[in-house]
Amino acid sequence: MIPISKPYIGQQEINAVVKVLRSGQIAQGPRTVELEKKFTKLCGSKYAIAVTNGTAALHLALHAIGIRPGDEVVTTPFTFIATANAILMAGGVPVFVDIDEETYNIDPKQIEKAITKKTKAIVAVDLYGQPADYQEINALAKKYQLYVVEDAAQSINADYKNKKTGNLTDVASFSFYATKNITCGEGGMVTMSNREVYDRAVLFRNHGMPPGKRYTYIGLGYNYRISDIMSVILMEQLKRLDKITAKRQAIAEQYNKAFNTLKSVKIPSVKKKRSHGYHQYTLQLTEQSSLSRDQLINYLLKHDIQANIYYPQPLYEIDHLKKFNSKAQSFPVTEKAVKSVVSIPIYPELSAKDQLYIQKTIIKALS
Ligand SMILES: *Cc1c(COP(=O)(O)O)cnc(C)c1O
Repeated sequence: MIPISKPYIGQQEINAVVKVLRSGQIAQGPRTVELEKKFTKLCGSKYAIAVTNGTAALHLALHAIGIRPGDEVVTTPFTFIATANAILMAGGVPVFVDIDEETYNIDPKQIEKAITKKTKAIVAVDLYGQPADYQEINALAKKYQLYVVEDAAQSINADYKNKKTGNLTDVASFSFYATKNITCGEGGMVTMSNREVYDRAVLFRNHGMPPGKRYTYIGLGYNYRISDIMSVILMEQLKRLDKITAKRQAIAEQYNKAFNTLKSVKIPSVKKKRSHGYHQYTLQLTEQSSLSRDQLINYLLKHDIQANIYYPQPLYEIDHLKKFNSKAQSFPVTEKAVKSVVSIPIYPELSAKDQLYIQKTIIKALS
């Protein structure tokens, strides 16, 4: 079976882990500080805070910008559930708006009508690895005095108008889960350039304890600390990041060439002045397709190719989120996407031979 994703781990990561295990310092320590410095260099943000996972990163980001119970947070319904769950964890009220047809990211044209007196922030997601429309989103935020959070879990190393993800909004969050573009199994990062936001985030990561002041507590905090074991893996992964990104983009380009002329699928489109990190390579079946999306997935599985749906249902249809499905909004683009998207294997070690086989199999299935 050709998997849809595969972590890219080498001997360097293994050596780094052995070294830190032997050092005796395995909780959050000096190697995590080093990782955070390297991460600010990557993104161009002033600060970076490493945490346990991407969901914790989002929760921390929302807390740090001051989301409090009852605050409304505008976001997309076409994302991983963590985006909305983190809003709930911070006490916020998710307000969903529809997505853009080309990028599957939140549609900035739909945001304004969702803004009320209670709105405090917009959480945009860079779905599949392509940055959202931050110029338009940031302009709206300025007009209504809102914070903008970038859920960059899927878009590390992508850029938007010559700036990297993680440096496009007030605060951004990343995930290093096993399927993400770089990984340490489980991990996350929050980036920002505002000192007050940074200070609140640092407290929240460690029980409200100010650095260097043990057993002093300023408000409720969590334990969202990462371990130096994870941090050294991530530092090795960061060294490979440009190579990983280039390889993913090269694979996507080959797929685009192969599928470009098929009437039954739409290939991913990348908007001007941004790059796509291709966390996922996602096709959308058109009305001209003779196979349904689910028939295509089954066909591929039978031919030893894993294909997945990201995401099979809009968040407002999930039980605990149903009550946030506002009648003032309609979601025709999301409704269509959940029924027609399919993601196919993309990872640095996907061989040329396997890629050709995937292309041939898909073309055969659809013709
Ligand atoms: C993976 C992911 C998250 C959550 O990250 P975890 O590390 O799994 O907690 C959040 N948002 C998006 C868009 C993701 O893809």
